[in-house]
Order: sequence, then C-alpha cells, then structure tokens
Amino acid sequence: MPRGLIPRQPAKSGRADRVRQAGVQLKKRTVAASPAKSLRLPPASKPTAPRKAYDPLAPQRTRQILHRLDGRYPQATCALHHKSAWELLVATILSAQCTDVRVNMVTPDLFRKYPTPRHFAALQPQGLEPEIRSTGFFRNKSKSLIAAAKKVLTDFGGQVPGEMENLLTLPGVARKTANVVLGTWFHKPEGVVVDTHVYRVCRRLELTKNSDSQKIEQDLMRAIPREKWIEFAHQIIWHGRQLCTARSPKCAQCPLENLCHAADKTWSTVPIHPSAKP
Ligand code: SF4
Repeated sequence: MPRGLIPRQPAKSGRADRVRQAGVQLKKRTVAASPAKSLRLPPASKPTAPRKAYDPLAPQRTRQILHRLDGRYPQATCALHHKSAWELLVATILSAQCTDVRVNMVTPDLFRKYPTPRHFAALQPQGLEPEIRSTGFFRNKSKSLIAAAKKVLTDFGGQVPGEMENLLTLPGVARKTANVVLGTWFHKPEGVVVDTHVYRVCRRLELTKNSDSQKIEQDLMRAIPREKWIEFAHQIIWHGRQLCTARSPKCAQCPLENLCHAADKTWSTVPIHPSAKP
C-alpha cells in the first residue's frame, strides 16, 4: 500500500483528538451565542430627529400671530377721537382706568370749551373736574391736564413734543401715553403700548411672562419686529375688546386659537399650559 493511503492512527497520548473536539465545541458555542439568531431582534428602525421643545417666542409662531391679526383686524387704529396731538394726549390721559367709549363721550364738549393747551393752562383744577368727572380719578386727571398744558406752553412753544424723552417730562404722561401719542399721531415706533388688553392677551399668548408693564413692553419689543409695534398694539387692543375678553374669552371664534395655550381658554384644540395666565 502506498505510504500516503495508510489511515492515520490516533496518537497514543490522545492529545490531537482532544484539541479537535475542543475546536468543534468552541465553534458550536460561538454560533449558539449569536444574539441575532437566539433573540430574534426586530429590524432596527430608522433614527428619527429629536423633537424640538415648544418655544412660544419662535419667529415662525410670532409671524403666524401677526399674520392672523392682520387678517382679522386690518384697519385697527386708536379708538380715541382726536383732531390734534394735544387732543390725543388729553384723551389718552383721561382713558386711564376708563373705557375709550366713555372718554369719547366726554371729549367733544371738553374740546369745544377748551380747544388748546392755552385754554387748559388758564383753568383751575376745580373748574375742570366737573367736565371730566365721569372718567374717574378726575381730581388727579384734572391736575395732570392743567400741569401738562402749562409745560407744553412754557417748554415746547405750545406744541406737543414728538420725542419720547420730552413727552415723559409732561405731568401725567408715562410710557403708555407717550407710546400712544408717538405711534398714533407722529407714526414713530418708539415702543409698544401696554394697556390692560395688551397685558392680558400677550400673557395668554405667552409673548411675555412678566407682570410689570415696562418689562412686558421690553419683551414685546424683542419679540415683534419694530415696523409692527404700532399696528400690533392696536390689533391686540381690538382683539382684547372683541374676542379675548377678560372673562369668558370667545376662543371658538378666535383666529389664534390653535396657537394659544392659555390656562383660561374656554375652548381648545391644543394642550393647555398652566403657566399661560392672563
Ligand atoms: S384662543 Fe381664547 S384665550 Fe387665546 S387668544 Fe384667542 S380668545 Fe384669547
């Protein structure tokens, strides 16, 4: 028999056989431990992008709010009747803690009797009080109007100034009044009017979390583009009167409904945010 055909004899020590058996066992154990075969995992799903956190001040949300306000209140403007900067200033001072409707009932007679700052400056507070009594806080308002008229005469040549820093020197004039006069009469966007409606609606819309009107104004000046400051305030004031009223807002008719998460909504298609309070 040729030499290469002789069957191989096992080693006397048995060492080669043990190695061979161990190799088989190892191979089997490796296959059995494969997770794909033993656990039958489902195929890996495609990775999804992480959800962005809700940002009430996101530019696209603010743009939507402005766009819908434009659609609902395209002609919004100041509701106080006036024919001059002085009349607007007087009407705005009178409108503190009072409705524009009430002020508009008082001012026609008032301006007929006292048409200019000079006429107001010549009055005694007690003489003006009966004319403006129905607007409330009439003693303080009377003093402020007469003092403002005197300052307009002495410091500004009888003309209501058109600058924020000068307007703020007039008695009875704070930023809200100055913003009304600058925006409505002078068409100067120096700030955002924050009255009771702007306060309530902008907190419901989460455009601010502040409760101080100066901080609210700063928040709105950051959130709203400057060219919309004047119009935005008028629109929000109209919205606050017509739909987003202090009690029982008419959410079912509101064009901002699905952008609004206010805690006191009367109807909602979106989650409510307890922090969005009026
Ligand atoms: S949904 Fe309701 S609470 Fe929100 S802005 Fe509109 S009226 Fe106001």
